[in-house]
Amino acid sequence: KEEHVRKPDWLKIDIKTNKSYNRLKKIMRERNLHTVCEEAKCPNIHECWSERKTATFMILGDTCTRGCRFCAVKTGLPNELDRQEPEKVAESVELMELKHAVVTAVARDDLSDGGAGIFAETVEAIHRRMPGCTVEVLPSDMKGDYDSLYTLMNAGPDIFNHNIETVRRLTPRVRSKATYDRSLQLLKRVKEIAPKTPTKSSLMVGLGETKEEILQAMDDLLAHDVDIMTIGQYLQPTKKHLKVQRYYHPDEFEELRQIALEKGFQHCQAGPLVRSSYHADEQVNETSLQ
Ligand code: SF4
Ligand code: SF4
Repeated sequence: KEEHVRKPDWLKIDIKTNKSYNRLKKIMRERNLHTVCEEAKCPNIHECWSERKTATFMILGDTCTRGCRFCAVKTGLPNELDRQEPEKVAESVELMELKHAVVTAVARDDLSDGGAGIFAETVEAIHRRMPGCTVEVLPSDMKGDYDSLYTLMNAGPDIFNHNIETVRRLTPRVRSKATYDRSLQLLKRVKEIAPKTPTKSSLMVGLGETKEEILQAMDDLLAHDVDIMTIGQYLQPTKKHLKVQRYYHPDEFEELRQIALEKGFQHCQAGPLVRSSYHADEQVNETSLQ
């Protein structure tokens, strides 16, 4: 029988909401937009939306063609594309007065460009409507198709984020339709296309990886010129998803953060509730690339 790992106290937190949060939520519903913040029930939502003026939009629908075993997004045959989506997202960014918008998408392996066209239009629309708002893109690996990557990079995102999610050994279990090397290659290619655009990747811990494997993942990311790393605790979204093998103590996250900085990352956020888009506004402004 598998042992149940108890959730530690530092993860038992209430999601605070208030009037301003409710207003923002209404903006999303009226436009039929999806945010990762809401769908992943992210505990940082109040801080991000109301205080830091950051949100993560999920475009290209709410149904993913992949089914990664840590992810709560619905899997199946995706719905029709909404051609108005780029403008709707940009309008929401304006109404929310965001300073930093993260745009991610479900994997659309059914589309020849993996959705890169609409993705690029969304970046452009946000920049047009809100020139002061930085845009971070967090795409899937687009099946490693570099034409799609060029389409997206031509839109001029301010930061390029693609998550390796877990260490090499666990990748086939955790995200079976991706490969560790394909993700690393994608990040490297971004640097070749746009050397001044900061690149970023995220790792979840608690899936059964060893410390050596985490350190190896750091080295692998650095060898592919990644500038920023985030490390957070994996939390099981439903009983059908992979079990949490271990909860890391906040001190362990701090230790990993220090190691990452010593190894050469320009920025590292690490902590139990750190998500790929957490405090992203600081990273884009403080990462200096020559
Ligand atoms: Fe949204 Fe990311 Fe902030 Fe969570 S950390 S509320 S997903 S922007
Ligand atoms: Fe979730 Fe992304 Fe995997 Fe789709 S590709 S299941 S959205 S992590």
